Amino acid sequence: MALRIEHSVPLSTLSTFRMGGVAKEVVTIFSEDDLVTLFGLLKTDRKWFVLGGGSNVIFPDVDCDALIIRVGIEAITVDESDTGTVVTAGAGASWDALVAFTVTAGLSGLEALSAIPGSVGATPIQNVGAYGCEVKDTIVSVRAFDTVQKEFVEFSNTECQFAYRDSVFKHVANRYIITAVSYKLTKEKPKSPQYPGVSEYFEKRGIAEPDLYDIRSAIIAIRGTKLPDPAHIASVGSFFKNPIIEKSQAELLKEKYPTLAVFPVSDSLSKVGAGSLIDTMGWKGKSFGSISIYPHNALVLVNEGGATKTELQKVVDAITFTVKEKYGIELSVEPEFVSEELLT
Ligand SMILES: Cc1cc2nc3c(=O)[nH]c(=O)nc-3n(C[C@H](O)[C@H](O)[C@H](O)COP(=O)(O)OP(=O)(O)OC[C@H]3O[C@@H](n4cnc5c(N)ncnc54)[C@H](O)[C@@H]3O)c2cc1C
Repeated sequence: MALRIEHSVPLSTLSTFRMGGVAKEVVTIFSEDDLVTLFGLLKTDRKWFVLGGGSNVIFPDVDCDALIIRVGIEAITVDESDTGTVVTAGAGASWDALVAFTVTAGLSGLEALSAIPGSVGATPIQNVGAYGCEVKDTIVSVRAFDTVQKEFVEFSNTECQFAYRDSVFKHVANRYIITAVSYKLTKEKPKSPQYPGVSEYFEKRGIAEPDLYDIRSAIIAIRGTKLPDPAHIASVGSFFKNPIIEKSQAELLKEKYPTLAVFPVSDSLSKVGAGSLIDTMGWKGKSFGSISIYPHNALVLVNEGGATKTELQKVVDAITFTVKEKYGIELSVEPEFVSEELLT
């Protein structure tokens, strides 16, 4: 299939937070050859930005001269060998469609990451994670087009330098365009996520040994109670990362604020649920003009319609300032605020 080019596309229609000006041109590539053709034609000084499902980006309120590139490669292949099963998916495939495919194929490894919006190609960028599982646990390699060297390269799991909501790709922005990701999965009995909500779900239904379908159903049901559906409510999911602090500081805070969610990370470090920090300030459900805090989850900011970047930044600053003042903890935002400089 040839490249697809669209003109004058509002970025609010391409991002789940529904902000942004109008993109002059959006190009979708459907093969790796298309990408080579595109970069052969692109003037060296033409800015570009690669976009997946737009569920982890906040666009500024400016029109966009940069070329928006979308990857439409969606093929999924399964490679069985003596060392295990490797599933490779095109970067443009829907992440949740891939998870559903693996569950149907009886392959374990991705089921706890069910119902996360977006594309396969974006999953390595912030090392997508949920319910104690991260894509770094299964990714074997990431294939990408190096727009500087104009060649395809393969990153091994180690080369991706995965960390909590982080990878090498976040630190070399606008160089690599991911075209495919390979995940090593297993046919062994799945391990159910050891999370209170998940165990309760199975206990209630009398499921002692959940299979892949049970786990996927549980995750979808639990997420549905806590996270808004991007088709109806404009958000980027969790707005803040869960801060990692000294275990001793976490213990003191937990004594003072017993409802804080605290999880062990190591012998000396603990992770604090950022949502529970905002929740104990009593901010759940509050409205600040066009931005509100989701009534079912204090970690989610919602664009009620027509929000501007200035308005959003004010709310983000108010939350981070208040959390810092009350708990002495620095919050950092999870989605990418795309800079005006990148787009104009
Ligand atoms: C309701 C909701 C729930 C969510 N829950 C979770 C969750 O549980 N866990 C979690 O980790 N995240 C979660 N997210 C955030 C988001 O879904 C993930 O980060 C997802 O991986 C983003 O995918 P995307 O295709 O929408 O990426 P985009 O938002 O389009 O892009 C994100 C970043 O990846 C880059 N990128 C995208 N595609 C490529 C590519 N092919 N090559 C190179 N760079 C690329 C973009 O340039 C950008 O920097 C949630 C979001 C929403 C709205």
